[in-house]
Amino acid sequence: MTASARPDARRNASPHLYGRETAAIAGVLEGGQYGHSDVTEEFERRIADFLGVPEAVAVASGTAALHTALLASGIGPGREVIVPSMTFCATVQAILAVGATPRFVDIDPATLCVSDQLLMDAVTDKTAAVLPVLFGGRPIDLRVIREELDERGVVVIEDAAHAFGSRHGTRRVGADGALTCFSFGPVKNLTCGQGGMVIPRTPAEADTIRRIRLLGVVQSQGERANTTSYRVDGFGLRYQLSAINAAVGLVQLDGFQATEDARRHLWRTYRDALAPLDGVTLVDVDVEHAVPHLCQVRVPNRDEVFANLRGRDIGVGVHYPPNHLQPAFAAWHRCLPATEQAGEEILSLPFHQHLTETDIDRVVTSLEQALKSVGGS
Ligand SMILES: *Cc1c(COP(=O)(O)O)cnc(C)c1O
Repeated sequence: MTASARPDARRNASPHLYGRETAAIAGVLEGGQYGHSDVTEEFERRIADFLGVPEAVAVASGTAALHTALLASGIGPGREVIVPSMTFCATVQAILAVGATPRFVDIDPATLCVSDQLLMDAVTDKTAAVLPVLFGGRPIDLRVIREELDERGVVVIEDAAHAFGSRHGTRRVGADGALTCFSFGPVKNLTCGQGGMVIPRTPAEADTIRRIRLLGVVQSQGERANTTSYRVDGFGLRYQLSAINAAVGLVQLDGFQATEDARRHLWRTYRDALAPLDGVTLVDVDVEHAVPHLCQVRVPNRDEVFANLRGRDIGVGVHYPPNHLQPAFAAWHRCLPATEQAGEEILSLPFHQHLTETDIDRVVTSLEQALKSVGGS
């Protein structure tokens, strides 16, 4: 990569590579085992050790993690899954993939996350699961309602796609007993290129997810080599994590401490630089405990500010347009005032590990100028 090609503030997000990923991929290509392999299983063990959990099950994407977690929880047609509208559309598509109905809930405007109260108020007899999103990496603590929901037979599935590495107190997200789904997509805190991981609650749940991700086929590669057949034991999908992707994840995990430190440092640098700006509210991620995935602000006249900043070559983004306003999800629309207001005000600033303090200065100065030229606030 030449110096001029360094991903800078023109990019909203960008993967960070440690350099050994290329060699790791080449090693797998030369080894000849591209699908689910020992490398995938090593990656699962290393993630489980990192989190401090008995096991982790690798899948092809974060969406596949959510889909298989819902399937393994027995959720299907006629059942309702409570989900914040303020999330990536993947969360909603996973619910539709099992034939269940999304019931959209509002968020706490300060954090863009659901609260215990908002979730509990939405629970009905039809509720099969609640699917909170750890937005921006914020480690929301759901232990209190999880006990209550367990008693009512409602499963809690955490969409922790943004929150790999974040902590609840001293434990990492994924290690406090919840059924947890991570994404290792291109711009997530840790990337495999594409990939995902489910942290199951029990060995039986782990087995179910392992069976689903390999087309419902139970025998291992080794066993299959010695028989003339294979057994299909149940429903399944082609959802395994390829060894090529797992090899990238292993290198990323080795470097994760640096990622963690860098993302916290960048977020704090933004926080301090943004503090003097009028009319800008930073969305709090609980940086003491989070490995931040996004740096978001709320601004007046967002669409004009967005266009103005794009004109200045600043890679701003919007995470996310509310799902209950999407045409595909119109059947499940409800009135969600905090989400709708956030949908009009949120702006994601460039946030990735290639940014320098000079880049951040430029973003903040440009934001200040954009707010002035848009005016009317
Ligand atoms: C990225 C993401 C997903 C889906 O993960 P993929 O790996 O892209 O399939 C799900 N939920 C949220 C909140 C995400 O940001």
